[in-house]
Amino acid sequence: MKRFVCALLLFAATTFAASIQTPSQFLGFEVGADRKLADYRQIVSYFHALAAASPRVKVESLGKTTLGEDFIMAVVTSEGNMRNLEKIRETARKLADPRGLNDEQIAQLARDGKSIVLVTCNIHSSEIASSQMAMEWAHALASANDVETKRRLDNVVLLLVPSLNPDGQIMITDYYRKYLGTRYEGGRLPWLYHHYVGHDNNRDWFMLTQLETKELSRAVYHEWYPQVWVDEHQMGTDGPRMFIPPFADPLDPTVHPLIWREANLVGTNMAFRLEQQEKAGLIYGFSFDAYWLGGTRNTGWWKNITGLLLETASARIASPIVIDPSELRGGQKGLIDYKATINHPHPWAGGTWRMRDIMDYERIASDALLETAADRREDLLRDVAVRARAAVAFGGKSAYRIPHDQHDWPTAQFLAALLIEHGVEIQQAGNGDYWISMAQPYSRFLDELLEPQRYPEVRLQPGKDILRPYDVASWTLPLALGVTVEKTVMPPKAAFPRVTEIKPETEEVIKRHASQPKPRIAIYNPWGGALDEGWTRWLLDSYGFTPKSLHPQEVKAGLQNLDVFILPDIDKEEIATGRRAGGEGSMKYVDELPPENRGALEKEGAQALRTFVENGGTLIAFNAGCDYVIDNFNIPVRNVLAKATPTDFSVPGSLARVHIRTDHPVTAGMPEETAVFIDHPIAFETTLPGNEMQRWVLATYPDDARDVLLSGWINGEEKLTRKAAAVAMTFGKGRIVLFGFRPQHRGQTHATYPMVFNALYWGR
Ligand SMILES: [Zn+2]
Repeated sequence: MKRFVCALLLFAATTFAASIQTPSQFLGFEVGADRKLADYRQIVSYFHALAAASPRVKVESLGKTTLGEDFIMAVVTSEGNMRNLEKIRETARKLADPRGLNDEQIAQLARDGKSIVLVTCNIHSSEIASSQMAMEWAHALASANDVETKRRLDNVVLLLVPSLNPDGQIMITDYYRKYLGTRYEGGRLPWLYHHYVGHDNNRDWFMLTQLETKELSRAVYHEWYPQVWVDEHQMGTDGPRMFIPPFADPLDPTVHPLIWREANLVGTNMAFRLEQQEKAGLIYGFSFDAYWLGGTRNTGWWKNITGLLLETASARIASPIVIDPSELRGGQKGLIDYKATINHPHPWAGGTWRMRDIMDYERIASDALLETAADRREDLLRDVAVRARAAVAFGGKSAYRIPHDQHDWPTAQFLAALLIEHGVEIQQAGNGDYWISMAQPYSRFLDELLEPQRYPEVRLQPGKDILRPYDVASWTLPLALGVTVEKTVMPPKAAFPRVTEIKPETEEVIKRHASQPKPRIAIYNPWGGALDEGWTRWLLDSYGFTPKSLHPQEVKAGLQNLDVFILPDIDKEEIATGRRAGGEGSMKYVDELPPENRGALEKEGAQALRTFVENGGTLIAFNAGCDYVIDNFNIPVRNVLAKATPTDFSVPGSLARVHIRTDHPVTAGMPEETAVFIDHPIAFETTLPGNEMQRWVLATYPDDARDVLLSGWINGEEKLTRKAAAVAMTFGKGRIVLFGFRPQHRGQTHATYPMVFNALYWGR
């Protein structure tokens, strides 16, 4: 009997490889060919088929996406490891939190454990190639019988997410197929490629506002504890072919240096394997820094995970492009001129570039990841414990206290709940205060989120300008949320019970307005999409307002049956004409959208807006949207920064102090001082109007330039002193509220939400 079973197993082992269909066989077209795309549902069905055919593949559901798709992650490893996944996860979890383990126990766990590597694809949906590559790669790993692949799979558990934005992957493939063979083939989408947050889905990894971010973070920080995370992106068309770490300066010195050494080790092997296969245009130390916290794998750096970003040059979705050699350019940090440099020794010569090329580059890099993760298995496992121990020591005796007695307790609860979602340990004292001991593995993450940022001013040559931030420069949550958090030490012998779940109470601002009917709200939605429109819609949807989102044609048709119209942070030129603003001599070209998805407000739209306000509507504008209102309404307000050059004034996303006038309906319930998030902000000067209108300065920057910046980086802060940050006025029978900042910035600035909600109800 035993013999018979063995024979059967042997038979199964030799034949399953042959019965595993390739993605092309399964889907009935050549995956990776020009103008062919598998959509997310096809990809999911392929992964399920692969899991059914191969004992090396398993499909896990991470949950539902924003628009209700099944959000999947494939687990790929050897048959033996697949039977032992629980133990492998348990080992990784212990190493991620080694408190109580001695050196010998850590060494033993590292010897026994398996590397767990996470590869996420296609978070930016138009960066489509990795979603196709994932199927081919999984097939190759499932069906290979060579010794080296088997060795890698014996040492490594691969977690493979074929798309981090399934909804957007479907939008892109639908749109691509619709316009295939027309002049719009491969063109940009006329709307955001994530239902709410478009490209900003990769700015959300510390705030966890979106479903996809939450669901993957749960898998990473509560279930799998991977040691390495690689996120596969695409960049522009006319520079290097592929960025692979080492990252560029600046770096955050809080992050454990082993993170950078491991990223360099893994990245260098990727570039080595690519160069061996004569792939041109590889670059490191380019553009992408080691400072910013918001992206997928970036957030992991502060939580002891080695994260790598890959960026391959794009085609036009699945359509090939041809780049003339004269069009190849540098012009970015790490490659000023397009030529051979030590970080870019083999420039690509130009010519045809297709999705197949992108997939090939990504595949070689991904295989090289498995090679390093297998070769360095014990090192990678032990290093997580080394970093976690160092973080516990870094935290020492210090602690944070979130006092129960504060201005906005429900938002304080929200902060504590968010930290728990991140895997942070929190305790609660009898009086309701939350206590966070810093002697825990995520202490660096806590330090980063709870303390002000001071942007590192790195210069690459004496006398030259500093390297500017890649994205924003501040993420200090107590300031952004308006929550009091005190740095202190754990009280002696404190043994408060640990809290593992918090349900925040309803915020005051919602309670205050709860008995009134909800205003009817519309948000301006330009063709091509605007991130701030998406975030505004997300905020209002989250609080039950169900706003409409109006395209220019709909605004021109008149704004009847509406109480409030919101102009998000969009450049005034783009609102008015649909054209992109830009400096003298800059490339202003944007490719054409189909006729049904074109147009801007123009004269008719501006008139419709004025009529709406004159007849009693409320117009609210955020940041750049205010410039449009100033130009199109006769109001006693000007933007004092309108002519400022980047040398005079520059602030790429920082938290600044403002004083609030609290006796106006829009500022009701606000504290007298708050932090506002400023990212290329507008500052106002007002003047006394005639008798036809009233105006109020709602928020003002401090008198002294040294008091302006609370966290982040700013140049030219004296330009903000004594200037208004928010103003309100009557206009005809209606009202206008101008916020010279984004009071709902990326779903992070709860401190300034009440002003947005109050503005919606002003005059009701
Ligand atoms: Zn990207």
